[in-house]
Amino acid sequence: MAGLYIHIPFCQKRCIYCDFYSTVALSKRAAYTQALCREMEARAEYLHGETLETVYFGGGTPSLLSHDQLSDIFQAISSVFSLSPDAEITLEVNPDDVTDTFALQLAQLPVNRVSMGIQTFNDHLLSLLGRRHTAIQAVEAVSRLRQCGIRNLSLDLIYGLPGQSLGAWENDITQVLQRLHPEHLSAYALIYEEGTRLWQLRQQGQVTEADEELSLEMYSLLMDKAKEAGYEHYEISNFALPGWRSRHNSSYWADIPYLGCGPSAHSYDGRSRQWNKANLNAYIAADGNAVSEREELTPAIRHNEMLLKRLRTSDGLSMPLFSSTFGQTLAERFLKLARPHFEKGTLLYDEAQQKVHLSRSGLFISDSIISDLFLEDS
Ligand code: SF4
Repeated sequence: MAGLYIHIPFCQKRCIYCDFYSTVALSKRAAYTQALCREMEARAEYLHGETLETVYFGGGTPSLLSHDQLSDIFQAISSVFSLSPDAEITLEVNPDDVTDTFALQLAQLPVNRVSMGIQTFNDHLLSLLGRRHTAIQAVEAVSRLRQCGIRNLSLDLIYGLPGQSLGAWENDITQVLQRLHPEHLSAYALIYEEGTRLWQLRQQGQVTEADEELSLEMYSLLMDKAKEAGYEHYEISNFALPGWRSRHNSSYWADIPYLGCGPSAHSYDGRSRQWNKANLNAYIAADGNAVSEREELTPAIRHNEMLLKRLRTSDGLSMPLFSSTFGQTLAERFLKLARPHFEKGTLLYDEAQQKVHLSRSGLFISDSIISDLFLEDS
């Protein structure tokens, strides 16, 4: 069992908050598609013949590729890898790319899940963020995707936007859950990443960051509304109707190996991590021999990653799995360090399943709880 991530590093324009690797050099899409197919061929052995259960096209903006370019990539995937007949195949799209023609062509591809960034239904905020779509375009895109047969739809929202009130956020949640009713919802607090235009605007006093109390109220409202609408809160930022969790993201949290192709993409084989340089020109010039860096995972890194990945999820950390992987001494150390959080009620222990997970109050401070449990690298 394995996953494949394909990075499509093109955007028509850059959003002011984004620090993902992408470029506006759209003229390089054809050359990039060829290099990407060659990288898959060159790294065919990375997954040791494991069957692909998930494929995820992320970006950047995968919906900026033409139908022929996407078809070529699918052709390469099926000739290089063994793809499960019921694999989850996700394509990220931008709402304004989803025209009638795009939707018709999408129906001819093996894509069975679409992830779309709506972010907010407030056109003023969309424009401030540098998004190129409007709220109405997002609603129309959902309708076109449904008409072309997309049964598994994931939508993204962002909260804590500059000047956004709790009422405006409630409206965004209501629009997405009641009006669009996606199978899956991801919602993130706006982050001011260093080096982004948004970060500069805050430095210059042109935008004001939402205060922490408001962000926490927004998160709390989101959890309540999603629950009322029947969604499972299965990971800190992710909600799904029963049976519609993201299999691709869930496999990251379950430590399943994956191959990442394209500039800046990361791969994981269970023992080490590799990542390609975030440079489109170098990637195309390498013609399949992507320049990779590699990090061997020490026992401490593997320990900390297991905590980070498992405690993010509602399924939590299995203590029998933790003990069998890291030994009884580290399991006892973990339970000792976790004790203050059990006493405060921010961590819970499910005796029947022998699993540790974050409580609702723990979700608000997950980073600090998890880092308290980390092991120092020796
Ligand atoms: S948020 Fe998406 S569309 Fe905007 S710059 Fe980042 S990758 Fe491109």
